[in-house]
Amino acid sequence: MSDNSDIRQAYITEATFKKLTTKVELPKEFQFKDTLIWELSNGGEIGLDNPVIFSDVEIRELLTFKAICKDSNLFNITVFKKIQVEDSYRYISPEKNPCYHLDKDCEKLHADYDSTAIKIPEVYKERYSGEEELKTKVNEYRVYFRTLINEFNTKYGEDWIEKDENKLRFAARISMRFNIPDTDVFERDVIGAKNSGVHNWKNDEIVYIKEDIAAGFKSLWEDEGRRKIWLEKKWLFRQSWLGDKKEDIYGDIAPYSQEDVKRILRGIHSIKRNSIINQLKHLYHIQYCPELKFDEETLQKLGLRPCWNCARFAGSGDAAIIQW
Ligand SMILES: [Zn+2]
Repeated sequence: MSDNSDIRQAYITEATFKKLTTKVELPKEFQFKDTLIWELSNGGEIGLDNPVIFSDVEIRELLTFKAICKDSNLFNITVFKKIQVEDSYRYISPEKNPCYHLDKDCEKLHADYDSTAIKIPEVYKERYSGEEELKTKVNEYRVYFRTLINEFNTKYGEDWIEKDENKLRFAARISMRFNIPDTDVFERDVIGAKNSGVHNWKNDEIVYIKEDIAAGFKSLWEDEGRRKIWLEKKWLFRQSWLGDKKEDIYGDIAPYSQEDVKRILRGIHSIKRNSIINQLKHLYHIQYCPELKFDEETLQKLGLRPCWNCARFAGSGDAAIIQW
């Protein structure tokens, strides 16, 4: 938190925001209560209060997400682990921590933007089996590639990549040096989740998501097997992950066998996790923090870096770095 009005505001994508919320742990004394979940779950028949369907871990995860959507300053009072992305040795540029954007209109912030990266060719990597050897050889490839980029920048100007004849020349040099097909040199992968940051949410979209969540809650006890478990052993709803256990941990619930009960639990679990929890997060995001806008300083503390594409216009960031 800061009173300093000089602190710039920055935007992040939904994918990055989700990453951040998994790194955050709210203080123990932080009290949660969510009337929205109560409301959407039909006045609490299955809701957050008594009786409960989410496990403690799920509730904490959900409400941490909500708390941060409602008050981005919470990032500053919480315990968090900095985001640290590891190099997979798959691309010319090692993977980097996620970005924040100073320009709300940055193309990289928007839903239809695919982030791509040039691959280290498979035929090259296949030659090396040991992990250390592979890393050394990938780095050798990277260094040569970058040196060649610099050479081409000097010789043909920094926009040399725009011309096919230059690309062919470049590919031929790499192909010769490492004995790989020149068609492999500029092969790219789409990396990372689809972006979906700044977006104008319409009211009817919010209504639709709420309806969907309510339907999810309803479906939890409409099925006959689920209803039976609900009536006889409510706590199993909270611990639906037990459906994946191999050993027998509870008796049959007539007329359902142990295997049936586990199957029903797995169904409950997938509805809670994949549908209700994700939709609730989505709802919190678009209701409380639709722009995903935060203090630049806070985002830096969390391990984010400025996007090279828009930071250069705002007078910071490394404009010279082209995304290879
Ligand atoms: Zn940007």
